[in-house]
Amino acid sequence: MKFSRLQFLMMAAAIAPGALLAPASAQAQSAFDAQFLTYPTYNGDDLELSVSPDGTDFRLWSPKAEEVNLSLYDNGHTGLPYEVIPMKFNAENGTWTAHVPQQLYGKFYTFKVKQNGKWLQETPGVWAKAVGVNGNRAAIIDFTKTNPAGWDADKRPEVKNFSDVIVYEMHHRDMSMHPSSGIANKGKFLALTEPGTTTPEGLKTGIDHLKELGVTHVHILPSYDYNSVDELNLQNNTYNWGYDPLNYNTPEGSYSTNPSDPSARVREMKEMIKALHDNGIGVIMDVVYNHTAQNDDSNFELTAPGYYHRHWDDGRYSDASGCGNETASDLQQMRDYIINSTKYWADEYHIDGFRFDLMAIHDTETMNQVAQELKKIDPSIFVYGEGWTAGDSPLSIDRRALKDNVYKMTDISVFSVDLRDAVKGHYSNAMDRGFATGKPGNEETVKIGIVAATNHPQVDFSKGNNSKFPYAASPEMIVNYVSCHDDLTLTDKLRKSMEGEPEENMLAAAKLAQTIVFTSQGTPFMFAGEEVFRDKKGVHNSYNSPDSINAIDWTNKSKYNDQFEYYKNLIALRKAHPAFRMTTADDIAKHLVFDKIDSSKTPNLISYSLKDHANGDEWEEIKVVFNGASKPQTVKVKKGNWKIVAQDGKITSDGSLGTTKGGEITLPAYSALILAR
Ligand code: CA
Repeated sequence: MKFSRLQFLMMAAAIAPGALLAPASAQAQSAFDAQFLTYPTYNGDDLELSVSPDGTDFRLWSPKAEEVNLSLYDNGHTGLPYEVIPMKFNAENGTWTAHVPQQLYGKFYTFKVKQNGKWLQETPGVWAKAVGVNGNRAAIIDFTKTNPAGWDADKRPEVKNFSDVIVYEMHHRDMSMHPSSGIANKGKFLALTEPGTTTPEGLKTGIDHLKELGVTHVHILPSYDYNSVDELNLQNNTYNWGYDPLNYNTPEGSYSTNPSDPSARVREMKEMIKALHDNGIGVIMDVVYNHTAQNDDSNFELTAPGYYHRHWDDGRYSDASGCGNETASDLQQMRDYIINSTKYWADEYHIDGFRFDLMAIHDTETMNQVAQELKKIDPSIFVYGEGWTAGDSPLSIDRRALKDNVYKMTDISVFSVDLRDAVKGHYSNAMDRGFATGKPGNEETVKIGIVAATNHPQVDFSKGNNSKFPYAASPEMIVNYVSCHDDLTLTDKLRKSMEGEPEENMLAAAKLAQTIVFTSQGTPFMFAGEEVFRDKKGVHNSYNSPDSINAIDWTNKSKYNDQFEYYKNLIALRKAHPAFRMTTADDIAKHLVFDKIDSSKTPNLISYSLKDHANGDEWEEIKVVFNGASKPQTVKVKKGNWKIVAQDGKITSDGSLGTTKGGEITLPAYSALILAR
């Protein structure tokens, strides 16, 4: 989900000063929400459902309910309950319990809460780990039977430092729906379990393509059960990104081969993860705990009315998500929910990382606890998020998990919108150009991106277009990118902003833009298909556009094979050379040295060195030069015996393009020069 920094600043200015001065210890964000502080909470791992040799136990947290009924069903979608059981209240922890002396595998259940004299709709609860079709009823399945062969021995890919991670953001349908993917299980979790798939021209697709490209992690768009796609009518081929959460702890049904079989989606998602792990690729899940698809009809409201969402003083839903509501991570039961849910995905599904949507709706304390708890499972689990909101929140700015507050968090990273908009032009204005497409004035902000927003003696943050201070204490707090699922693809952005120029210029600018991302300090992130110059026909918000807009046309891999080869070698260069992957701000300040260039006289030109075997690199010095101007520009390189790593739209990981003695070197328009000695 996107949000403009500008809008944010305008909004922040509109907030009453008192809100900014609220003490950090305050828990409730409004007079209305203060009532929830008195609620007893419950953090046991037996919430809602547990099956043991003694039978099946149910425990719903709903402290203010007057009555709760449990309904048991034979079917996940139709028919009346075969039994309705009144649940018993435990006032100490606010939970309602029921016990059935049989193991109810294969059955389904719902809860029904009576509060303020009114019976609410049925709900599968908030902890359904399996559901019937369309997620209306929770399912009781034996999870041990959902594990693919070898699951117990399944291992996360090793991650030494987060700066070693290379993220590839993908949607299940985008990757496989196009006929040219050659994939049988189109749009399904299983698509990435198929080895040997190719384009009609015989080039690799699917999981083999990912391996060939060299990315270390895929970041999958929302894959929990979401609301918008009717799982009973998959023949309609409805598309959605999935930012409309329904059941947070079960996979989305439309990505399984049989949404009516509650075990199928669980097993198939695990099969996908196992296949990726077997090929050395980690899986990061996009999580959207910040809001629910519905307000009063959400599972949160139907189990504990009022509690899980934030409100203004008058009791109206606050809406920092721009989707009608926002959740209340500052309240204990919601905070524990987010922590336990991510832990569940890491434990049960071996998920390797989490990307938090609109992370600044959550408070920094919650995010710190999420990272700490995940670290106990595996220190390699990578957590990052969007350091912004999409609307005003009752949560005070100092407590929001904002980009500018990332220094208050440990082991959490944020997207660098600084680098993104400075390199390609502002996301909200299609025609706007950036550093890589000839617009002057972005040089200092690109430098902020290059040093991963850490304190650097040669970078003047006051000249930055976005953040005005070095907000990252370490490069491992920064994710660098030029495009993602939101907004125009890089290709579409270049086609609009460089209209009238030949396509070869756009291809050159795309290479330059990604060279900046992949040589910068921090963690690089790319949007699936950019390596084959993928477009979305100019549609910037394609969240429910058809496959004809969203699916990647893999015939592009031959059409733009030079582009693919460049990305592949660029990734190989980063992986082979630790100088691009420093782990501390001190190292960057010491080993990354910018050459003096007067941007007012020669704009769109940046040159720097990674010196003295930076971060243990075999190369003593790496010279990196970017010319984002629409004309050739010349730099002066110190005399020496340099290997040419990148020049004129070509790149290698080992410097085998030739040699140069330095001196004056001219870079073509929109190009990078990388030398090493
Ligand atoms: Ca669904």
